[in-house]
Amino acid sequence: MKVLKFGGTSVGTAQRIRNLAEIIPSNEPIIVVLSAMSGTTNALIAIADEAKKGNSERATDLAKELEAKYYVTSNELFFTNLYKKRGEEFINDMFSKVFQDIRRGFNGNEYNDTIASGELLSTGLFHLYLSEQKKNNAYLPALNYMKTNSDQEPDYEFIAENIERILNDYIGTKIFVTQGFICRNAQGEVDNLGRGGSDYSAAVIGNVVDAEEVQIWTDIDGIHNNDPRFVSGTAPLRELSFDEAAELAYFGAKILHPSTINPCSRKGIPVILKNTLQPSDSGTIISHHYNPSGVKAIAAKDGITAIKIRSSRMLMAHGFLKKIFQIFDEYSTSVDMITTSEVAVSLTIDNTKNLDKILEELNVFSTVEVDKEQTIICIVGDFVADRNGYAGKIFNTLKNIPIRMISYGGSNHNVSILVSSNHKIDTLRALHEVVNEHKLVKA
Ligand code: ADP
Ligand code: ASP
Ligand code: MG
Repeated sequence: MKVLKFGGTSVGTAQRIRNLAEIIPSNEPIIVVLSAMSGTTNALIAIADEAKKGNSERATDLAKELEAKYYVTSNELFFTNLYKKRGEEFINDMFSKVFQDIRRGFNGNEYNDTIASGELLSTGLFHLYLSEQKKNNAYLPALNYMKTNSDQEPDYEFIAENIERILNDYIGTKIFVTQGFICRNAQGEVDNLGRGGSDYSAAVIGNVVDAEEVQIWTDIDGIHNNDPRFVSGTAPLRELSFDEAAELAYFGAKILHPSTINPCSRKGIPVILKNTLQPSDSGTIISHHYNPSGVKAIAAKDGITAIKIRSSRMLMAHGFLKKIFQIFDEYSTSVDMITTSEVAVSLTIDNTKNLDKILEELNVFSTVEVDKEQTIICIVGDFVADRNGYAGKIFNTLKNIPIRMISYGGSNHNVSILVSSNHKIDTLRALHEVVNEHKLVKA
């Protein structure tokens, strides 16, 4: 079994949806995981935001606009009048529910129900299209198997049991079509895995079905060595280890949802990134194989808050760090970077939901300074202790950039630096020299 996930742009137009039917193999068992058509989730969030604020007229107008786009897509997608009609009826059903929720008011779980419509629409249309093409396929409803537990983590046991049960109902069927992103939570309500979460859905599905591989199809030819949205001249990396890819995904490479690697690396399932616009391109393969070679790639994660905790009296005292981390643990806030000196500890968090309470507790025994709008720049490469020169090269390129924190030596393949977010683009561009230099040396 292989799992193939297609992102928003890959299902972004009727023509692209047709192309998918050409890309997917029909002679081996596959699970096709789809995101919503590009722009749809943002549009649904805008609709849900308006409805939640009580602006039902505005919400209805926005929903009508979105619905109209779907009728155009459906009309372009199908060839026969029979399927054009089925497509229309399906879209009408989906939007009737959205309009009904808006009319009745958002008092319960309507927000998440509305947002889930994007993936239900794309998969419903694709399932119909494959059927029109006489490709034997089955619809695998994510809301019947994808579930999170009370820690908002996938409930692997439940997912495995239920997916297997559904797959067993379709012995002989090769193509299964399912939704990324959406799930049920511990209370059984419709929920989702967070923005960009379809990659994560594919990885979790890959884990529970022991997939041969998980393919993530997107609009670029693999993971690039720097963020192509901000740096020109970036290039795709042909192979990465699970650890390297996890580091890049966690620290901002938007191409992969941060949690995608773990479910696959735990079972040694290769993750392959492919370009829907150039299917023959080999893309990036992520596996256990590690190829140590200089500075490989750079990524940036925004929305970071740095906290400096000073306590001349207590820092060196036994148990001080434990006391600090206990506070972050108590408020379920994970720490990304940490540096220490004799009188202070600096650390970073990306979730500020409980920041006020954390600060209140820290203030009892220390002086605390908080810097918001920080960015972690993650440099992935071969930084084993007996290689020298990399730190020098990296920091030489950053001589004009004020650096707030540095983390080196935490692992063999990562150096992280913290800069104010308004220096992010300059930092990414400056560091690209190091990646480029490495490429030149190799050539
Ligand atoms: P999808 O909708 O298919 O999930 P995303 O927009 O989530 O696609 O991810 C693909 C985009 O990620 C690319 O178009 C690119 O702009 C961006 N991106 C950011 N960092 C990287 C990187 N290091 N390598 C490749 N793409 C990246
Ligand atoms: N459609 C969802 C989003 O826009 C999930 C995804 O694209 O992976 O965030
Ligand atoms: Mg994505």
